[in-house]
Amino acid sequence: MGKTGEQLSVASPLPRPQPFLVILRRFIVFILVGLLIGPADVHAWDYLRHRFVNQLALASLPKNFPAFVRTATNTERILFLGGEPDRWRNQRDRALRHLNSPDHYLDIEDLEPYQLKPAQLSHFRYEYVEQMAAARVRLKLPLPNENADRIKGHPGFLPWAINENYLKLVSAFSYLKVFEEMGTPQEIANARANVVYRMGILSHFIGDASQPLHTTRHFNGWVGDNPKDYTVSRRFHSWIDGGFLEAIGGHDEKTLLAKVRPAKRLATPESTDDASGRFQAVMQYILGQHALVEPLYQLNKEGDLSPDKPAKGKAFLQAQLQKSGSVLGDMWFTAWQEAPPDKYLQSYLAKRKLKKE
Ligand SMILES: [Zn+2]
Repeated sequence: MGKTGEQLSVASPLPRPQPFLVILRRFIVFILVGLLIGPADVHAWDYLRHRFVNQLALASLPKNFPAFVRTATNTERILFLGGEPDRWRNQRDRALRHLNSPDHYLDIEDLEPYQLKPAQLSHFRYEYVEQMAAARVRLKLPLPNENADRIKGHPGFLPWAINENYLKLVSAFSYLKVFEEMGTPQEIANARANVVYRMGILSHFIGDASQPLHTTRHFNGWVGDNPKDYTVSRRFHSWIDGGFLEAIGGHDEKTLLAKVRPAKRLATPESTDDASGRFQAVMQYILGQHALVEPLYQLNKEGDLSPDKPAKGKAFLQAQLQKSGSVLGDMWFTAWQEAPPDKYLQSYLAKRKLKKE
């Protein structure tokens, strides 16, 4: 929003506009804002909420977690990176939007036309794409190419994005552990910077998953059959992202931080054949948030997401932020704990040392 406002005011060359011109300018601004931040561009939690999820997760990390993460500079960097994948979405380039946007959601109902159930989905991203392609041929479904980004009706990749970014964080810890023993100060500094970056990128997608509207076709107002008469407002998504909480003075930072529970190590999957990393657990988590889609619409219907009667709506959304912070803290902690030392790097650095001697 801020960026858009800046661009618009810079683009206004009229020093002393006449009333008619004022009206015309307002009209143009209205149209431009509509085009630039139209209701189709929905982002999940706004930047402040993503930052706060990261704050909660950082507060959950135990004392023995690598201390460099907690310096003021790195803490701020992790909070800042909570908004990073949404910044990629602001680019108009179609190829980037095509790649990045579906990483932010999994619209569970959109699996139905493919006759695919969440439990059947391959944790290999491209195999999942093939599963859909095969279903399209078999069921004569149209390609998701009705919009310029070629992703309309695409169910999305959120659990893949979380799992793959989790595995990249594991990798960063794996080589950091080896550099800390055998690397130069510059190598250690670089590896630490990468851990911070990876923690930040992963955080965004975990945050998105706790916003129930990122798990549903009804992501911005109810679509299709609407027997329960839920809102169809194209402002609903941004209201949940942060509009409502802003309207009632924000979330209760202190109260929520006081309730943080210590991060715990997630159970190791028995086999990595069917799901490497944390794919199945992430899928279960997303399905849990999907189950909250209707309760969220119901709250809205009963007026519990309005500044006049905010208690229930606020409690609901704060619980989602809290949940997100816990899951994120657990994943950061588990990635660090379970990252095996990078064996390839170990032997490379051992050889390098021999050469020097
Ligand atoms: Zn997002």
